[in-house]
Amino acid sequence: MATLTLDKIKKSFGGTQVIHGVSIDVADGEFIVIVGPSGCGKSTLLRMVAGLETVSAGDIRIGGNRVNETEPMDRDIAMVFQNYALYPHMSVFDNMAYGLKIARVPKAEIADRVATAAKMLQLSDYLDRKPRALSGGQRQRVAMGRAIVRKPSVFLFDEPLSNLDAKLRVQMRVEIRELQRQLGVTALYVTHDQVEAMTMADRMIVMNAGVADQIGAPVEVYSRPRTRFVAGFIGSPA
Ligand code: ADP
Ligand code: MG
Repeated sequence: MATLTLDKIKKSFGGTQVIHGVSIDVADGEFIVIVGPSGCGKSTLLRMVAGLETVSAGDIRIGGNRVNETEPMDRDIAMVFQNYALYPHMSVFDNMAYGLKIARVPKAEIADRVATAAKMLQLSDYLDRKPRALSGGQRQRVAMGRAIVRKPSVFLFDEPLSNLDAKLRVQMRVEIRELQRQLGVTALYVTHDQVEAMTMADRMIVMNAGVADQIGAPVEVYSRPRTRFVAGFIGSPA
């Protein structure tokens, strides 16, 4: 059974349709990259899976359950954003614990989960610091930690590396994949960067103006592009 299914998902804002029926069955533990130019609908698609936008038509299923009307907190997902959305006045520990406190997870369990995630992310020595006293890479890890402690089946990433310098970006691609494999979670990862998509994806969805032009493994998309758009977009990195 697929962990995550998008079934003919459509989205309109006002009278304008921006997602035109996207479907995919994502397997357990698969790393899917949604790639395409700015404005093609990547974030909108991800935000619908997260429950931050309503779905205009179609169904989203997580673990076999239709979640179209399920609150974000009650979906089996966690999202890592581009700007990290860390709370500047809170320590690393409190940033990572925040969602669990709201979900009324017992204190001892919160401490336990944060400690485990911090260890995985090499943040154990930084739990008392404020985000401003961290490097870009460490902040990015705190954002990941906040997702990990919730123990979701599905991780959603929206351009999580776009604020990092080129060298760190390449390093974090590897780290994110290692972590995802270690946790055994399924991932939907949004980027506008073709190279990032090619190097990280098990399968990629190439989006063109709200349409999934092609879904396939990077080598397949690269060697057998289905449309002129895919050929041009994958063939010529920005
Ligand atoms: P991407 O993440 O690929 O850059 P988005 O999903 O952010 O693209 O946007 C896709 C399209 O939907 C764009 O044309 C954008 O202007 C439009 N859009 C996104 N969010 C809204 C909104 N809240 N209201 C109206 N239009 C929106
Ligand atoms: Mg976006």
